[in-house]
Amino acid sequence: MHLKGNKAHLNLKGLNFPQRGVQNGRPLFQLANIQLLYYNKTMFKMLKKKLGGIKRGGLGFLQNHFSRAVDIPAGVSITEIGKSVDGRPLECFRIGNGPNKILYAAGIHGNEVGTVKLAYHLLDWLDKNKACWRDFTFFVIPCLNPDGYALARENPDYFNGGKVGRFNAHSVDLNRNFDTPSFQNKSVWGFGKNYAESVEVDCGTAGNSEPETRALTEFILNNNIRILFMFHNAGGDVMGNNNPLSQKLTHIYAQKTGFHYVSEEDWAKLQQSGTAKEWCDLQNIAYIEIEGSTRYGADWGRQRAAIEATIVASGGLTLK
Ligand SMILES: [Zn+2]
Repeated sequence: MHLKGNKAHLNLKGLNFPQRGVQNGRPLFQLANIQLLYYNKTMFKMLKKKLGGIKRGGLGFLQNHFSRAVDIPAGVSITEIGKSVDGRPLECFRIGNGPNKILYAAGIHGNEVGTVKLAYHLLDWLDKNKACWRDFTFFVIPCLNPDGYALARENPDYFNGGKVGRFNAHSVDLNRNFDTPSFQNKSVWGFGKNYAESVEVDCGTAGNSEPETRALTEFILNNNIRILFMFHNAGGDVMGNNNPLSQKLTHIYAQKTGFHYVSEEDWAKLQQSGTAKEWCDLQNIAYIEIEGSTRYGADWGRQRAAIEATIVASGGLTLK
């Protein structure tokens, strides 16, 4: 708005509308309508965002209470691969003794509560069907960040996006703490629609500085793991690394779940550093990162068929 003589003028996209009575054939009410339309649109967008948040929060509450993890199958082998900053055990379950090894890891971001539940469903399902997968050894780490997970379970912030508990007890984002050329002390965490919103996160004093990251990478190298599935949520997408098997499995996973396939080009736009994905590239490990579709729900019904299809594509037999 600026004053020209004694008339107030409004500059709207380069058009200079006089704001008094009928000027140049444009009545005053037309201007008012344009402004009203603008305010209505803005208010509608804000309302839609608020209602969306309330709906997701309510759904999160229900899922956290009614979508539960299943029990650990009796007799399954369990190893402690390390401890968290606060001394919680990092547990790894093993099923089978075959030459092909797959590691499934969840809960690296402790706020992603549903991934831990999914891991227990997966463990139970693998155990029930182990006779069909004799040429495989499956490892399942249900929770890589038990300190953050405990915080998330105690403080579920349903109506604020479920963000509490993402970091470890050193306030480090573990999926930015891997020892890679891109490692830096600060990086970004993108969230919201199309990851359009972001905040700065701590990545640790150096690559692999955190006990949780160290335990995972040492376990992978000591056990010669060639395929790693890492569960996150709740973006509803899936991405791989540059390993050809990873790309094959990622496409299958996207097709079976309906999750969005993220290309290398789109992933690069997120500008993350020190990630598990990059570290797996350096080790030539096939890496598949899944962003499940719910924060607090197990998402098992949506992902089970994709997990089965990727085992088949890795050399296993189809379930009877
Ligand atoms: Zn995550």
